[in-house]
Amino acid sequence: MNIPSIEQRYAFEVFPKRDLTIVSGHGATLYDESGRAYIDCVAGVGVASVGHANPEVARAIGEQARTLVTCPGIFYNDVRARLLEKLVSITPPDVSRAFLCNSGTEANEAAIKLAMHATGRRGFVCAMRGFHGRTMGALSATHKHRDAFEPLLDGFSFVPFNNVEKLRAAVGDGTAAVIVEIVQGEGGVRLGDAAFFAAARELCDAHGALLIVDEVQTGFCRTGKFFASEHHGVRPDVLCLAKAMAGGVPMGAVLVGEKVPARIGMHGSTFGGNPLACAASLATIEVMERDGLAGQAQAKGARFAAAFGRRKSPKVREVRRLGLMIGIELKEKARPYIEALMARGVLALPAGPTVIRLLPPLVIEDEALDEVAARLHEVLGR
Ligand SMILES: *Cc1c(COP(=O)(O)O)cnc(C)c1O
Repeated sequence: MNIPSIEQRYAFEVFPKRDLTIVSGHGATLYDESGRAYIDCVAGVGVASVGHANPEVARAIGEQARTLVTCPGIFYNDVRARLLEKLVSITPPDVSRAFLCNSGTEANEAAIKLAMHATGRRGFVCAMRGFHGRTMGALSATHKHRDAFEPLLDGFSFVPFNNVEKLRAAVGDGTAAVIVEIVQGEGGVRLGDAAFFAAARELCDAHGALLIVDEVQTGFCRTGKFFASEHHGVRPDVLCLAKAMAGGVPMGAVLVGEKVPARIGMHGSTFGGNPLACAASLATIEVMERDGLAGQAQAKGARFAAAFGRRKSPKVREVRRLGLMIGIELKEKARPYIEALMARGVLALPAGPTVIRLLPPLVIEDEALDEVAARLHEVLGR
C-alpha cells in the first residue's frame, strides 16, 4: 500500500506535506512504516506533552470508551464535573468557570462571543504576528492567513507585539477585549514582555474591556510553568486552552472570571465536554502534576539551550525560548534545515519562514535532547 499516493489522491490537501508516513509513537519517539525511529520535536504541534501512547492516558481513554463516550451538555456527567473542578483549581486566580470545546480555534471563537456579550462592544485589539485559529472569528483576530477571506469581522485592530504605546493608543471605550498570547507560537516563538501584559491589564481595567489570554500553545507546562501567564503574574479575564490539554484527544476550553456572565442558549457544542475527552484530560493533568512536567520543561529547556549554545553557528540570528518552547531564528530560510534534520532522524517545525521551532514532548529524555542539539549543529554547521 502506497500511503502517500492515497492521501495525495483523496485528501483535500491544505498542508505542506513532508515525505514521511508516521504509524506509531512512544514517548518522544515516532516510527515510520519501515520501523525507522525519529526524535519528535513536533509532538503533534505541541499536543503530545505527556508523550505518545502515554500508558495512563491510554488506560483512561480505554476505560471511558467502555463506560460512556458521549454525553451532551444538557446532562450532568461525573467525569466532566471532575475535570471542570480540576481546571479551575490549576488555572490563574481570576478565572472560575469553564466552557469545554474541541479545539484551539473554538476556544478563541467562544472567547470572542463571550467578550461581545459581556461588554456589549465589538472592538478587539490583537497583536501583530498573533495566531488564534482558522475559523472566521479567530481568524479575524489573527494577523496572517487572511488574504482570501476578507472582509472578516469588523472591529479588529492590530498593534505590534510588546509595543505598549501602540497598545495604549488602540484600546478605548469601544474595546470589548485585548487578545494576546504569552509567547507567540506560530508567529515565530516571540516572548511577550511583563510590561506589555501589565499595560494590557491596566488598560483593560481602565476602559472596562476584558483581557483574553490565548494559552492554546503555551498552556499545560510547555513553558516551564503550568500556564505561561504565571511567568508574568498575568491575570486573564478569559483564558483559551487546547493543544496539550487532553494528551492528544481533541479538546479545548475557555475559562472566564465573574466579569463574564453566561446566558442559557448563548453558546454550545455537540462534542464539547464529552466524557472521553474529559477522561483523557484528567489523566493528562494527573501525569503533569505527578511527574512535575512544568519543572521538567524548565530543566530540559535550560539543558538544551546550554548544549545548543556551546557551538555558535553563523547561520543563527537568535535563539528564543521559554521552557521547552524553542525557536531558532536563522538568517536564511528554515525549511531546508528542517528537511536536513528529518533526514538525520529529528522532526522539527517551522514558525514563519526563518524560524526552526522545537516543541518536543515534555517527557523527552535528556539524551534525546542532546542528540537534537548535536544534529542541529551538524546541519547548521555546513
Ligand atoms: C494552535 C493554536 C490555535 C488554534 O488551535 P486549533 O486547535 O488548531 O484550532 C489557537 N491559538 C494558538 C496560540 C495556537 O497555537
